[in-house]
Amino acid sequence: MNEAPSGRLSGRIVAATHNKGKLAELADLLAPRGLEVVGAGALGLAEPEETGDSFAANAAIKAHAAARAAGLPALADDSGLCVAALDDAPGIYSARWAGEGRDFAGAMARIARELEARGAPAPWRAHFVSALALAWPDGRLESFEGRVDGRLVFPPRGTSGFGYDPIFVPDGHARSFGEMTAQEKHGLPRDNSLALSHRARAFQKLARALID
Ligand code: IMP
Repeated sequence: MNEAPSGRLSGRIVAATHNKGKLAELADLLAPRGLEVVGAGALGLAEPEETGDSFAANAAIKAHAAARAAGLPALADDSGLCVAALDDAPGIYSARWAGEGRDFAGAMARIARELEARGAPAPWRAHFVSALALAWPDGRLESFEGRVDGRLVFPPRGTSGFGYDPIFVPDGHARSFGEMTAQEKHGLPRDNSLALSHRARAFQKLARALID
C-alpha cells in the first residue's frame, strides 16, 4: 500500500511550547492562515525532557509528545543561539543557560564573559536556528529548519522580543532583534521574499509544504 501523502494543515493545531514568546510568534504566523492555535500549557500537557542532541531531534520529541497527548497535529520549535567563537554554544542549551528563573540578562552576561575569557575579538559572529517539527497524531513527522546569521553586541540593546534578542544584530541591519517590532523580526513579507527571523524562515518552508 502507498504511504499516505502529507496532510494539509487546517483547523486546530497545538503549539507544543510552554515558552510565551515562542507561542506568540507561532500564533502570529499561523493565525493569518486560518489556523487556530492552542498552547500546550492551556491543554495541560506536560513538557517532555529534551534529550536530543540536535535542534531537530528536540523539536521532534516535543511535537510527537503533544500530538499524541492532544490527538491533534502539533507544531514544536526547538531553537537557540550559536556563537561561533564559543564553538556554537549555547546552541541546544540556550534555554538552560538562563536557568530555572529564565534569567536571560544573566545568560547574555555569561556569553560576554566567555568571549572575554577566550580573548575573542569582535565582530562576534553568531546565528539563531529554529527547527520546526510538525507531528500528526498517527506518528507522521515533517521537519523544517531556518537560520539567520548576524553578530553580537554588548551591552544588550532594546526591550522587545525575548531571550537573546537584545544582543543579536542580524546581517544587513543596524538594530538588534530587541530593538525591532514583532512585525520586523518575524513578519512574513507579502512579496514572498525571505523573512528575517530563523523561526519565520523555517515557517515559510513549512507553509509552502503544508498550508499554501
Ligand atoms: P527551547 O527551544 O525552548 O529549548 O529554547 C530555545 C531558547 O533559545 C529560548 O529560550 C531562547 O533563549 C533562545 N531563543 C530561541 N529563539 C530565540 C529568538 O527568536 N530570540 C531570542 N532568543 C531565542
